[in-house]
Amino acid sequence: MTQTTDALGILEKTALESYVPPAQPSLIGLSREEIADRLGEIGVPAGQRKMRVQQLWHWMYVRGVQDFAEMSNVSKDMRTALAGHFTLARPEVVAEQISNDGTRKWLLRLPSGHATERAHEVECVYIPETDRGTLCVSSQVGCTLNCSFCHTGTQRLVRNLTAGEIVGQVMVARDRLGDWVDRETPNGNRLVTNVVLMGMGEPLYNFDAVRDALLIISDGEGIALSRRRITLSTSGVVPNIARMGEETGVMLAISLHAVRDELRNELVPLNRKYPIAELLDACRNYPGSSNARRITFEYVMLKGVNDSLDDAKLLVKLLKGIPAKINLIPFNPWPGTTYECSDWDQIEKFSEYVFNAGYSSPVRTPRGRDILAACGQLKSETEKLSARERQALRAMAMTD
Ligand code: SAH
Ligand code: SF4
Repeated sequence: MTQTTDALGILEKTALESYVPPAQPSLIGLSREEIADRLGEIGVPAGQRKMRVQQLWHWMYVRGVQDFAEMSNVSKDMRTALAGHFTLARPEVVAEQISNDGTRKWLLRLPSGHATERAHEVECVYIPETDRGTLCVSSQVGCTLNCSFCHTGTQRLVRNLTAGEIVGQVMVARDRLGDWVDRETPNGNRLVTNVVLMGMGEPLYNFDAVRDALLIISDGEGIALSRRRITLSTSGVVPNIARMGEETGVMLAISLHAVRDELRNELVPLNRKYPIAELLDACRNYPGSSNARRITFEYVMLKGVNDSLDDAKLLVKLLKGIPAKINLIPFNPWPGTTYECSDWDQIEKFSEYVFNAGYSSPVRTPRGRDILAACGQLKSETEKLSARERQALRAMAMTD
């Protein structure tokens, strides 16, 4: 990994490591066309491929099977051929933590065919609420950017996740929660109803894989999550914002966090490249946004830094004309940070001002505080454990 500072003084880590697929690759994350090509390579006649792809798609993404042997409408020969060349592997659960509020956090290992590379790990979090269940997925190992309040930014990177590793997080959650189509519930409701790209990494710096993964997650014949229930959060990679909207139609969230360039340059250094005015222009032009499909503006509450009523006033002014909602996030402290979370009454005052100006401004309730809450923290804490402890954790994750 190298670290470079560009002309604007933005420290950007370069993702040097490229993904090497395991000798027997997983079919998860491939498009229908790619699966058809793979089938061609193992001798499936052209005239059969489309039908076979349909069958596989259904077994993989509606039923969630993990073994070709379960694909009962696929001939035995075909199942043997598939199992000889491919897998249905998803990321491997290394550790699972269940909070007493029901939040679940998984540390996932990403297998690769790289001989020397230590398998990378990312986090994925499930947050159940009364009317929904939100899965927070990662798009990179670490992050190329270095927002000063974010723990992920401090981690050594970096590898982009593949589409399969991104889709695989949703599949692991459904596996662990027993949330595939056979799940028997009184009303047939799913547990994972929403996906947010708010885990590790900057999704717009891993554009192709994220786009491909979102197309699979929202595919109506598979996992079938509505695009309105998928939200991509970005720190503001302006040139890629409209493109992602056009190519996927998912909802957009912007990590704004400051209303003046001077402060945002410090909190979100990418702001030096794409300052607030340019970012808000990209939001104004985001395809398909309307009062029914608002853009979320995330605003982390940092004590004495960005939480004054003047900030709230300027925020309301800046967002004028943009179909917006504001998400106030209590800062989640991590070891070594110099920031503190704003006092609760200050968060309330801020929220009230924004609400009175006509914006929905829910304060994101801190979830899973008892299970190493801050983004990126599970990974770091687990890295401190000895090999034996890690093995024990893995065994626990496998058996329950
Ligand atoms: N890289 C993307 C998405 C991942 S971060 C982005 O920055 O938008 C998801 C959200 O969590 C972002 O709004 C990010 O700013 C916020 N965040 C990061 N660290 C945090 C912390 N310690 N406390 C509260 N929010 C944090
Ligand atoms: Fe990366 Fe987002 Fe963290 Fe910034 S806030 S360092 S963009 S993950």
